[in-house]
Amino acid sequence: MIKAITGTKDILPEDINKWNKVEAIVRNVMNNFNYKEIRTPVFEETALFSRGIGEATDIVSKEMYTFVDRSETSVTLKPEMTASVVRAFIEHSLGKKYGLNKLFYISPMFRQERPQAGRFRQFHQFGAEALGSDNPMLDAEMIITSYKVMTELGLKNLAVKINSLGIPSSRENYKKVLKEYLSDKFDQLSEDSQKRFETNILRIFDSKVEGDQKIMNEAPVLLDYLDEESKEKFEQVTSLLDGIKIPYEVDPKLVRGLDYYTHTTFEILSGSVGSQSALCGGGRYNLLVEQLGGAQTPGVGFAAGIERILLACENENSLTLPEESIDIYVVRLDKELTQKANEIAVTFRNANLSTELDYTQRSVKAQMREANRLNAKYTLIIGGEEYERGEVVLKEMKLGEQKIFKLNSLPDIISAIKSV
Ligand code: AMP
Repeated sequence: MIKAITGTKDILPEDINKWNKVEAIVRNVMNNFNYKEIRTPVFEETALFSRGIGEATDIVSKEMYTFVDRSETSVTLKPEMTASVVRAFIEHSLGKKYGLNKLFYISPMFRQERPQAGRFRQFHQFGAEALGSDNPMLDAEMIITSYKVMTELGLKNLAVKINSLGIPSSRENYKKVLKEYLSDKFDQLSEDSQKRFETNILRIFDSKVEGDQKIMNEAPVLLDYLDEESKEKFEQVTSLLDGIKIPYEVDPKLVRGLDYYTHTTFEILSGSVGSQSALCGGGRYNLLVEQLGGAQTPGVGFAAGIERILLACENENSLTLPEESIDIYVVRLDKELTQKANEIAVTFRNANLSTELDYTQRSVKAQMREANRLNAKYTLIIGGEEYERGEVVLKEMKLGEQKIFKLNSLPDIISAIKSV
């Protein structure tokens, strides 16, 4: 028996309405903010991600699904979207075509992580990227749109955390300060953090080890070392959020340890999903396009995990889904009427009514039972004396009311069903 690969999940018909609802809300919010959808291939050249995400990150160093294909090219299943969007942006000269590009996506992602609740190997993200403007309005817009999707899904137990990483020069100054602070505490740091001390010192803030956290709680923070312009930009972002009353918390420990990240960084967390509480993360990356070979172009984006959002929705019981039903079930009393039943069903389907009929020559009773199970609003019964008189019976299922129609007046039946 071959099973789905560990860390991957089937989305079954019984769950699909939830997914469609999330996707519909994403599309609607993105449309309201005038973001255009982009779809990129599931796999890319490995170098795109190692350069576009950073060799020092967990994603690139430990989690990518990378393989050499039959033409000896190293390819990788996309672990996130920003690098792919930026590649497409450069490849198709979108910056020259449109100036500001506001893009969104909904896509599967792949990371070989240890599977647990809220952590999968194939998972799905929606997200947005705005390329071509350094205006803090767009930093705020990333938070506004992602937060809007979550509140439209009825989520309440949310926390928005925001920080600024400034520009690389102020960050370099700050790193020296942090290094000095940590140098006499080096021996108390965990092994991982000791490694990060050399490779990526900011990421020690991400450590989950209690001892590390204690030390980092007392550490000087980057926010206090920002240059004036970065401070001003950060204030603009927070005042834009204040203006539309999005609650947020400044978290000076929210860092991203890569050089091309600049200014805003943010996360939206849920108090309803246990330890994997980050639903969404984002920030500004003014140096990434250049790093990937394009012209200097400021960019900002976010990515949100759909599985985790759905878990939060489930735990908060926040999703109201419409009851599943079909418009009409065509019941035939006699198997000789199969062709007629099929013709009628196709006519209904062409008229945009969701229609079902029996495919297994079951008894009338079984067909009626099936109509009930499918929550059919109506049944059309064909056969018997009525049929010989050129008539059919339309039954409204809730009240049990029946009406006779002429067999050749299907448009009247369609109108009757649609008028309710
Ligand atoms: P990241 O791209 O790592 O900043 O992740 C953005 C969001 O994607 C996270 O906040 C999660 O909601 C989601 N996410 C990341 N990794 C996984 C995973 N392995 N399984 C499920 N969701 C994930």
